[in-house]
Amino acid sequence: MPKKINKLAVLTSGGDSPGMNAAIRSVVRTCAYHNIKCIGVYQGYEGLITGDFKELDARSVRGIINKGGTMLKSARSKEFRTKEGRQKAYQSLMDAEVDGLVVIGGDGSFTGALIFNQEFGFPVMGIPGTIDNDIFGTSHTLGFDTALNTVVDAIDKIRDTASSHNRLFFIEVMGRDVGHIALNVGIAGGAEEILIPEEDLGLDRLVDSLNKSRKSGKTSSIVVVAEGDKIGKNIFELKDYVDENMEGYDVRVSVLGHMQRGGAPSCFDRVLASRMGVKAVEAILEGQSNYMVGLQNGKMELTPLDNAIKGKTKINLELLRVSDIMST
Ligand code: ATP
Repeated sequence: MPKKINKLAVLTSGGDSPGMNAAIRSVVRTCAYHNIKCIGVYQGYEGLITGDFKELDARSVRGIINKGGTMLKSARSKEFRTKEGRQKAYQSLMDAEVDGLVVIGGDGSFTGALIFNQEFGFPVMGIPGTIDNDIFGTSHTLGFDTALNTVVDAIDKIRDTASSHNRLFFIEVMGRDVGHIALNVGIAGGAEEILIPEEDLGLDRLVDSLNKSRKSGKTSSIVVVAEGDKIGKNIFELKDYVDENMEGYDVRVSVLGHMQRGGAPSCFDRVLASRMGVKAVEAILEGQSNYMVGLQNGKMELTPLDNAIKGKTKINLELLRVSDIMST
């Protein structure tokens, strides 16, 4: 028989993403709905170690569903990577009589949660919060949809300048290991080329393709580049290469950076966060542990944390083909 749960803790860890607040709200309100107590842990695993806790009731999470970032703050904790750090974290949870932990974060945060469970047998549940959408077991991570909308807005604005001046713009978007953001915003923003880590287009093919689109009558061009694209050059080296090997375009670079993480969560992310919070709390109450909640075929499903961490998300090949056809 699993131990009866009377009190849960929730924390946000790793990089922040829009929708984390909506997920905290959902965890807190689901606890209130089931008449159990909820503790907010500040500064991610750092706050778990120092006991930086605050009891949250249904009313203490009012007015945050529409806010980016995380009211609990996020942090990267070196100490939690050590056995001593995790021992302190366990003691803090014991002192506060907490029976289970919901971790909102990325794969690093889930790795920490899994190790913590293996060492102390403490129930943990993960909610995937990262804009990169690079976690296995969910079609969407929290913040991905909002980031797509933010980046598409930016591309639309840059497009105005590109077409007024016959310019070629390289726009760098987030995605060190995966091209989900680049592929989606590239299609939605009408990019001529999309460079992603999963595909090696090659510099010559890039120049050929840009030349082709100019011959076909295009006067401006946008190339969306994921941070980790396989060509392996940074975006400024790409610009220099194209400058040297193509005439007629004024080539510019725009690196969107951290603005992609901020802003009010989209309707989709708010609904997703609300669903994930309910599922995470109810799964722990049913005695489940070491899972991540995720969206699969429209339903909330549980994936073992180990699989969520180790599994690879795949780029959507159909989207790649659509993008090729659209740039004709
Ligand atoms: P993002 O996708 O935004 O990078 P993340 O959750 O992957 O989010 P990380 O910085 O990798 O972010 O991890 C967050 C925290 O999780 C770390 O600062 C550390 O405290 C904890 N953590 C990560 N890996 C481990 C590990 N192997 N053992 C213990 N704790 C870990």
